[in-house]
Amino acid sequence: MKMVRKKQKAKIIPHKVPAEEQNPMERRSNFKEVSLGYTEVTAVKEAMRCLNCSRPQCIERCPVHVPVPQFIRAIKEGRFKEAIDKIKEVNLLPGVCGRVCPQEDQCEKSCILGKKYEPVAIGRLERFAADREMQYCRRSVSELPVSTGKKVAIVGSGPSGLSCAYELAGLGYKVTIFEALHEPGGVLLYGIPEFRLPKKIVAREVQSLRDMGVEIITNAVVGKLVTVDGIMEDFDACFIGTGAGFPRFMGIEGENLNGVYSANEFLTRVNLMRAYEFPEYDTPVKKGNRVAVVGGGNVAMDAVRTAIRIGAKDAIIIYRRSMFELPAREEEVHHAREEGVRFELCIKPVRIIGRDGWVSAIECIRMDLCEMDESGRRRPRPIKGSEFLMPVDVVITAVGTNANPLVTQSTELLSVNKRGYIIVDEETGRTGTRGVYAGGDIVTGSATVISAMGAGRKAAKSIHTYLNGD
Ligand code: FAD
Ligand code: SF4
Repeated sequence: MKMVRKKQKAKIIPHKVPAEEQNPMERRSNFKEVSLGYTEVTAVKEAMRCLNCSRPQCIERCPVHVPVPQFIRAIKEGRFKEAIDKIKEVNLLPGVCGRVCPQEDQCEKSCILGKKYEPVAIGRLERFAADREMQYCRRSVSELPVSTGKKVAIVGSGPSGLSCAYELAGLGYKVTIFEALHEPGGVLLYGIPEFRLPKKIVAREVQSLRDMGVEIITNAVVGKLVTVDGIMEDFDACFIGTGAGFPRFMGIEGENLNGVYSANEFLTRVNLMRAYEFPEYDTPVKKGNRVAVVGGGNVAMDAVRTAIRIGAKDAIIIYRRSMFELPAREEEVHHAREEGVRFELCIKPVRIIGRDGWVSAIECIRMDLCEMDESGRRRPRPIKGSEFLMPVDVVITAVGTNANPLVTQSTELLSVNKRGYIIVDEETGRTGTRGVYAGGDIVTGSATVISAMGAGRKAAKSIHTYLNGD
């Protein structure tokens, strides 16, 4: 008699394989990375969860279209070098993206596994592939393409500029990046703190660009020393990726007191200028005992967690809506809570009070959440007479940023919208000025690393088409 065997279905592990983390009580007083990432064993185990879909939605959802199933399959089969090579076909910054991309809204959001279980931990696997290469493989310089003889300038070395440079250098263009600060990396360097993104990861990934022959000129403020119009006299095309790093304030009394910082200034002082090691380093920062950070986004979480690490005994988030509307990534909020951050919700600052020129308190008013606004969140409305004082000695505002007007105002024929962001053709990144392209936060307003990289990549393709006379 013929035996009919039931086909065995592979059992899916419903949850992501966890990655180890530094203990919250220890990490609140150091700048070492919070997540320790996967080991070879845990990475392979997580990679086994991927179904290797024939029409993978995870690729579509990624702004740079990382070949997710292919690189995960390589990890699953222990071909770690091949995994990183696959990612690098489209992504110069895998170590960065694996750490800071909001995967829960992108690739992982559309992972088929997520319909029933937790999605595949694509970000953690990407980080594993990048870190393993850094640990074990010698930096390899791939063969450079034949030179086109044409030169492209890039203004700004954030993710949009770096990714544009990567594509163009790979196509044989001579690329020069002009960067205002003394080190390249943009927000990756001066904004996102070491405990989320170690600077050595950024430095290594930027170095691979230099290895491809890209020149990076630092301390070059375009709009002051040289203009885009001047650059265009020497170059065949130009990409502007200057970001949106111009701080926005609340416009309330007391914001000019000592001890009030914008989140960008505070983070730049600590991250880039190493203010926590003053006087060994030249830049000081006020190390408050009670620090209030106004805002509920990722930038606010970075600022408040940094304040804890430089010695705040009480670090408070002040947010005008409830926990439900808080825009920061869930993971960041969870980490902040573990580290002892206090969340004061449904309140809004009305003035900052000082003593002898320094912050001594912040006055807030309680808010009621009413009907939905155009963003789909409940509109906060002040409750009359509910004002109260909170003693604090540092206030950090993380209520958004604007476009820096330096480049836009010094470039002829560049069109900007009413908020100062450059207007481009969406498909190509082309501005109104011939040969000049733009992308990243200077076009969209503050967004994400990967969307800035996607814009840089798209503009590079258009520049290539333009320089080939199409
Ligand atoms: P930027 O990264 O801002 O880089 C612009 C560069 O241009 C800078 O280096 C600047 O110095 C340079 N520049 C400016 N003006 C000039 C000039 N006139 N001449 C020469 N150079 C100039 N996104 C995520 O996806 N995940 C996160 O976890 C995350 N966390 C964040 C945390 C903080 C604190 C901040 C501020 C942002 C965060 N973001 C995060 C957002 C993300 O970093 C940005 O969307 C992204 O960096 C934008 O890239 P960009 O290339 O457009 O600009
Ligand atoms: Fe793997 Fe999820 Fe992508 Fe399918 S959608 S290939 S399961 S990561």
